[in-house]
Amino acid sequence: MRAFSKREVRELYRRLAETRPIPQTELEFVSPFTLLVAVVLSAQATDASVNKATPALFALADTPKKMLALGEERIIELIRTIGLFRTKAKNLIALSRILVERHGGTVPHDRAALEALPGVGRKTANVVLNVAFGEPTIAVDTHIFRVANRTGLAAGKTPLAVETALEAVTPVEYKRYAHHWLILHGRYVCQARKPDCPDCVVADLCRYGAKTGPAELVAARAGGRAPTGLSEPAAKPASRPVRSPRPA
Ligand code: SF4
Repeated sequence: MRAFSKREVRELYRRLAETRPIPQTELEFVSPFTLLVAVVLSAQATDASVNKATPALFALADTPKKMLALGEERIIELIRTIGLFRTKAKNLIALSRILVERHGGTVPHDRAALEALPGVGRKTANVVLNVAFGEPTIAVDTHIFRVANRTGLAAGKTPLAVETALEAVTPVEYKRYAHHWLILHGRYVCQARKPDCPDCVVADLCRYGAKTGPAELVAARAGGRAPTGLSEPAAKPASRPVRSPRPA
């Protein structure tokens, strides 16, 4: 697979940025603590399932102190529609206790301190550092792992290898939102089972060898030529609606 040139990388991000100028996480939250809780709950679960449960939880416990007061059994009742809810409830109590005892009830702006919290790994720490504190971290989840490898933008066998490769190739001016652009592209366009290549704004840059599309176009790609009357998908506005910015 031919590596991306710097110009191509910049062009890929430029188009993704044009599609979603101010991308946002789709998890609902109101503070760094509720963001942390939402990201912990989202492990091996969809954002939609987390967003269904968190309004009731945050209405009762939007600080570590209140989460402790709520107690594990009550948390279990509130989050039982989310996968692994028992373990997650236990982790929410344990991490809230650490935040109260060691961090004055606040979420630390520090990777090591975040990763020391129960239920918080590198990916969760990266999301919190990026979304809550504006750090240019790139959290690699299943969508970003797939998009980075498929496109050839940043190939790697592990999430950490992909994160390292993305850190290396992503231009500094795009790092702040790279995580969001790639994750939303993976979630809505470059989906796991059937990537929407005909409606993809970076199709001509992507190196994926099994792009979807009209049979004639797929056959032409395989033959390394463009078919008469059919061009490779060019940059065009995404068909998905652009999310409106959430107030800071
Ligand atoms: S062309 Fe297809 S495989 Fe490549 S990024 Fe777009 S949707 Fe994904």
